[in-house]
Amino acid sequence: MLITGKQMLDIARENKFSVPAFNAGSGQLLTAVMETAERLNAPFIMAIHPDELAFLKDSFISQVIYECNHSKIPVCIHLDHGANMQQVAHAIQLGFTSVMIDSSHQPFEENIRITKEVVKLAHSVGVSVEAELGTIGDTGSTVEGGASEIIYTDPLKAKEFVEETQIDSLAIAIGTSHGIYPKHLVPKLRLDILEEIYKLVAIPLVLHGGSSNADDELAASLDLGIAKINISSDIKICFANKLREMLNGGNNEIREPNVLFPPCMLETQRVAEQKIKLFKADNKASLYYR
Ligand SMILES: [Zn+2]
Repeated sequence: MLITGKQMLDIARENKFSVPAFNAGSGQLLTAVMETAERLNAPFIMAIHPDELAFLKDSFISQVIYECNHSKIPVCIHLDHGANMQQVAHAIQLGFTSVMIDSSHQPFEENIRITKEVVKLAHSVGVSVEAELGTIGDTGSTVEGGASEIIYTDPLKAKEFVEETQIDSLAIAIGTSHGIYPKHLVPKLRLDILEEIYKLVAIPLVLHGGSSNADDELAASLDLGIAKINISSDIKICFANKLREMLNGGNNEIREPNVLFPPCMLETQRVAEQKIKLFKADNKASLYYR
């Protein structure tokens, strides 16, 4: 069942769980997370970054829509980090039900102006909008990118931003980074800032860079309005590690994709299951049928 981002996240916020947004940037990853979500009766967001879309080609979205229409669980197809109006319009034309416009690197007023334009277009065709305030860090080597220094989201600015733009969900910066943290860097979520934002902002909040943050911190954020957590690196690293193991295993005869990829997909399923349960999204699909 294909639903919008707003439908997906309003229910999550209300019921204090988070929907995992998996950047499943290949057919194998899509199948892996889809099967896991179905098995656990969990809603999930299929997040696709413009760079991933360029690699997958537009026709991939038809496959995703087919999967959604033939599934009993609620799914939303979401553009991750749309950079401009052109990318947003393209995604809407392909059938995405949610788009992110990321102008967080722009000055506050400019971020508002661009976001408002996107909201006007997207809402006119029933598509939900996520925007970002503050900057999410980057640990390097991710499609998502990010800033080298994190600027925490100002709670009062967040309130003003949401009221001005009429967005459906807000990505905030409270100490996460895209990618996997180097060993010497221990990520720490500023739950005090999150609590302030939660008090002032009535729409669902989004955490980007949710890979490898402490489980207890992520769990605590569910009670404070975090309704969507993006997971990209974690579902890809386990896949790639298994693939390396398969290729280095000494059997040079392995070449068929249907032999090579299934063990890797199992690894992704294992991680996806762990995230779904951590975010308390398991067995939440039924909430969407009322
Ligand atoms: Zn992101």
